[in-house]
Amino acid sequence: MSQKEGVKMSDKLIRSDKEWKELLTPLQYKITRKKGTERSFTGKYHSFKAEGIYQCLCCGNEIFSSETKFDSGTGWPSFADVISPEKIEKIPDHSLLSLRTEVACSRCDAHLGHAFNDGPKPTGLRYCINSAALKFVSKAEKYKKATFAAGCFWGVEAAFGKIEGVISTAVGYSGGDFVDPTYHDVCSGKTSHAEAVEVLYDPEKVTYEKLLEAFWNMHDPTTPNRQGPDFGTQYRSIIFFHNDEQQNSAIKSKDEFQAKLNKPIVTEIIEAATFYKAEEYHQRYLEKRGTQSCRF
Ligand SMILES: [Zn+2]
Repeated sequence: MSQKEGVKMSDKLIRSDKEWKELLTPLQYKITRKKGTERSFTGKYHSFKAEGIYQCLCCGNEIFSSETKFDSGTGWPSFADVISPEKIEKIPDHSLLSLRTEVACSRCDAHLGHAFNDGPKPTGLRYCINSAALKFVSKAEKYKKATFAAGCFWGVEAAFGKIEGVISTAVGYSGGDFVDPTYHDVCSGKTSHAEAVEVLYDPEKVTYEKLLEAFWNMHDPTTPNRQGPDFGTQYRSIIFFHNDEQQNSAIKSKDEFQAKLNKPIVTEIIEAATFYKAEEYHQRYLEKRGTQSCRF
């Protein structure tokens, strides 16, 4: 079992029935601890569409993502998949005439709902879950943003995408003054935008300092407007900070990395401005082509 994702036995959350009763509302208790079911169309998440993560209400175990949520028409929140299989336990349930599969949280054993085999492709599964057993955490609340420019954005995106704790990446253009630039505009060098990568990360799994360290190591920050064969202002090295904390960390990290180098670092540390997402074919470009690097 994966140490990062899975639930180790030592992580198991065990509380007495009395404790659960005190912590939960009567409805939440009845559903999660006594295998109850809320009436359809009464829960708060059945038609809820915001982007984020659904945790087990009782213990915070991250079980479902909005990415696999779909409208099943049943009046219960429905998901085609779990975030990872170790998050839940599937238990045969004979309580009705037909055999059903109960879905429980692997960390605290909370009853969540049932799984059926009539879901959408590719999983074919429908996790039919009680809203009252879930706690939704929006992407904006949970994850933080970091933005960097370090040469050709294909390779920079691929490098950040491999870091544990990075939730998603996007390539785009930032740092210039041209509104809504295309790749063609940026390549012309007239927009003063740099090829940039926006990283959404989970601060509980990876720190901003770790991302900075990766940033320094993935490119040469001493060559002005140049990375290897790529030359132009769009390839300059920039840390776009989103708040004072990131700015301070960036300056500190630059000083530390500078101490290891003979040549001066030319990386700009500037406040994040509008990030123009690049055309879809540039997103996860190397991943789509099964290559690791821009250098062929
Ligand atoms: Zn739980």
